[in-house]
Amino acid sequence: MHNRKAEPYKIKMVEPIRLIPKEEREKRIIEAGYNQFALKSEDIYIDLLTDSGTGAMSDWQWSGIMMGDESYAGSRSFYNLENSVNDIIGYKYFVPTHQGRGAENVLFPLLIKQKGHYVLGNMHFDTTKAHIELKGGRAINLVIEDAYDTEKEHPFKGNFDLEKLELFIKEKGAENCSFVLITVTCNSAGGQPVSMENIKAVKEIADKYGLRVFFDAARFAENAYFIKKREAGYENKSIAEIIVEMFSYGDGLTMSAKKDGIVNMGGMVAIRDDEELYTMVRSMVVPIEGFPTYGGLSGRDMEALARGLREVVEEDYLEHRIGQVEYLGQRLIDAGIPIQRPVGGHAVFVDGKKFCPHIPYYQFPAQAVCVELYKEAGVRAVEIGSFLLGRDPETGEHLESPMELLRLTIPRRVYTDRHMDVVADALIEIWKRKEALKGFDFVYEPEVLRHFTAKLKPVE
Ligand SMILES: *Cc1c(COP(=O)(O)O)cnc(C)c1O
Repeated sequence: MHNRKAEPYKIKMVEPIRLIPKEEREKRIIEAGYNQFALKSEDIYIDLLTDSGTGAMSDWQWSGIMMGDESYAGSRSFYNLENSVNDIIGYKYFVPTHQGRGAENVLFPLLIKQKGHYVLGNMHFDTTKAHIELKGGRAINLVIEDAYDTEKEHPFKGNFDLEKLELFIKEKGAENCSFVLITVTCNSAGGQPVSMENIKAVKEIADKYGLRVFFDAARFAENAYFIKKREAGYENKSIAEIIVEMFSYGDGLTMSAKKDGIVNMGGMVAIRDDEELYTMVRSMVVPIEGFPTYGGLSGRDMEALARGLREVVEEDYLEHRIGQVEYLGQRLIDAGIPIQRPVGGHAVFVDGKKFCPHIPYYQFPAQAVCVELYKEAGVRAVEIGSFLLGRDPETGEHLESPMELLRLTIPRRVYTDRHMDVVADALIEIWKRKEALKGFDFVYEPEVLRHFTAKLKPVE
């Protein structure tokens, strides 16, 4: 940690942030019903809610914004983006979409041919699962068991359990499976990477049963960086080479460009070489997202993305990016705070169950830490646990999440290590008085996606 290099950029424009006084923070969080989604960003000092669309663009990307070609059809910015996709991803065809879920909405109905068919994933992201289900499919998670054990060290906790995958296909029949979806990095398992060996093996199994393989590629560059650092045989390969090899095992991808595209909005569907599928995607994108040479993006957005895709594969950038997340994680580990290990690519996940063992899952232990963190230091984190999971639609009971996590999600190129220290110091303070933390109960509970708009009160 001591010989870490400094941020590989200097700051040309600043956006002021302020820490409002403690009494005000306490008022704001009560007004927000103890729900960080209801806080105003003005009242937040350091915002670690998400890394999605919250990154800082470079001067090269901002200059691209001025150069955007806003032609309805055949925009120069589209062709610049096409060049980036061909070079970086290695796929022949693509259509832009307004964000990742737009891409899912365009591609999935073409792949899920029949109601009840299975989509086999390591661990599906929540909007991805929703789109699979909206199209009549069933989203199955087949990640390795170790992913659920936060203390267990494993270099590739996003890996598929290959035995489970093959067994599932055999049991349900390949004819009842739509496709395989590899999420890199595996967001829902804590930003955990998938190894090249595992990707290759998934592809072999899929080939054996005649199934196609797609990527949910939001954090493709971060995954490639982990392969370079952790997988034998890849230490001397460039990130660019690793990415091309990784995607060579897929037939296509959906991407939320709000992550490794380092843009505030954008996404795409890309197809390796299947012209027939591409033709269908292209006609599907028109009524949903827009004409195929803009697909829900303005020319300037495509220009910024064309450049972001080239910047995200730079090793200096990735070394700092992953290093910063690791730095925060290590500070917490050193203080004895339980977190998902090893530290993932875009976030540090604090184990709320171990942090507050006295708070039962139906009183949301990770949410309790979240609230306390805002009160302590004006830091916004997010709960990924039973509060987010909701209730069983049949019994109406709270579902118990396998993990109660507090996610500290680091935006790209936005905060310095000093900000990470503020976050770590605050959590260490809270750790000292963790027994005093209280669980939460509902004052208002919406029926769907309750965590976005719910209002809570502390349990007495
Ligand atoms: C963010 C994300 C999505 C959805 O993308 P949006 O741009 O938010 O619509 C899908 N999959 C993964 C893995 C993601 O992280």
